[in-house]
Amino acid sequence: MQPALVVLGSGFHTPARDRLEVLADCAFIVDGTGRIADVIRPEDPRQQALAAWAEAQGVLHRLPADAWLIPGLVDLHVHAPQWPQLGKALDAPLEVWLQKYTFPLEARFADPDFAAEVYDDLVRSLLAQGTTTAMYFGSVHKRPNLILAEACLRHGQRALVGKVAMDDPATCPAFYRDADAATAIAETRAFIAELRAMQGEDPLVLPVITPRFIPSCTDDLLEGLGQLARETGCHVQTHASESDWAAGYVRDRLGCSDCTALDRFGLLTDRTVLAHANFIDGNDMALMAQRGAAVAHCPMSNAYFANAIFPVRRALEAGVEVGLGTDISGGFSPSILDGLRHALMTSRHLGRGADPTLPPEARGTGEAPLTAVEAFWLATAGGADALSLPVGRLAEGQCFDALVIRANLPGSGLRHFPGADRPEELFEKIVLTADRAAIGDIWVQGRKVR
Ligand SMILES: [Zn+2]
Repeated sequence: MQPALVVLGSGFHTPARDRLEVLADCAFIVDGTGRIADVIRPEDPRQQALAAWAEAQGVLHRLPADAWLIPGLVDLHVHAPQWPQLGKALDAPLEVWLQKYTFPLEARFADPDFAAEVYDDLVRSLLAQGTTTAMYFGSVHKRPNLILAEACLRHGQRALVGKVAMDDPATCPAFYRDADAATAIAETRAFIAELRAMQGEDPLVLPVITPRFIPSCTDDLLEGLGQLARETGCHVQTHASESDWAAGYVRDRLGCSDCTALDRFGLLTDRTVLAHANFIDGNDMALMAQRGAAVAHCPMSNAYFANAIFPVRRALEAGVEVGLGTDISGGFSPSILDGLRHALMTSRHLGRGADPTLPPEARGTGEAPLTAVEAFWLATAGGADALSLPVGRLAEGQCFDALVIRANLPGSGLRHFPGADRPEELFEKIVLTADRAAIGDIWVQGRKVR
């Protein structure tokens, strides 16, 4: 095997939820398919020869001083057509926000020129934030979602893209919905085929079956999409148990929780990602763990739309797969680094409490807050596991999706004093302070995308 790229330097990753691995002075060997062929430690005599060879071939990338390699960030929940709305319109509850702001905006993406302009900017912006894998809700119309996929391929972002399906005239406006269940299913099927036909053997962009959420979909549509998931083996994404209103709506209509209903429709699989899931109970968690379905934890938007905190510790301990989502534009930051900090903070509020008028022992649930290692894991390996994709770790066999974090750059909060920070402390600083200004080179599948 001739390496296509050798990156020489130090890095961090979290191969397991509770385990940080410091990869000091390693050679990361990337093969011609963009996979990590080996991680060679400094004590291994092959390292020096390999570095010399790579240098002569012009494929050596030596990390600068004060720089560390980390796995690319995984964002499990982005609404691509809400990108123009980032940072505004957060003054209404979910059911009002959808009708007042969001459906009218998403309807504008029927215009392919508008879609092309917004999606090109979105993909470039998220890559620059270190998001090497993004799971996108598109809009209802088929063609603009292919334009989004084209932007991902052009800029080299690994992505999962779904044509949103929503057909219920009782909850979806006439100007923005599928004509009926049969049309929504046929358009979803055609979208999957067209996206697959755009790429070869090892596709960077995958199609996702995307019922918006149960309240926007008729039973016929959910049934048909479940059948399509079985037929095609595609990923599935939807919203579940996000707010009191949403969870209550499903209970009133179907007499059960979102998870149970989705399972009955064949939509709860090991390739399913449920956004939010704040109000899932122990039975839902057990069902999700059994099916291998995952949660996209979106702490920022939950503060606006859920009035509740997702019990991340309970879900993880019940065996549910969990990763992070920005939920653009329900969340106001495009950065998963921000997302992981919100996950850290909200888990502290849930466990330790919030209302100062209560005695300390009655203030929180008592469950342990997330640690820095766990939050980083959620943003990388946890998200990758939720998608069953070989990314999120700097290890042999994984795709080389990675970014360089640089300390002490002007304008960045990440400051490093070599004599004062042990490697584990530096990792903690990266988790809590690395920002957009600290992000250097980025690779996806071994291709330098920034
Ligand atoms: Zn959402």
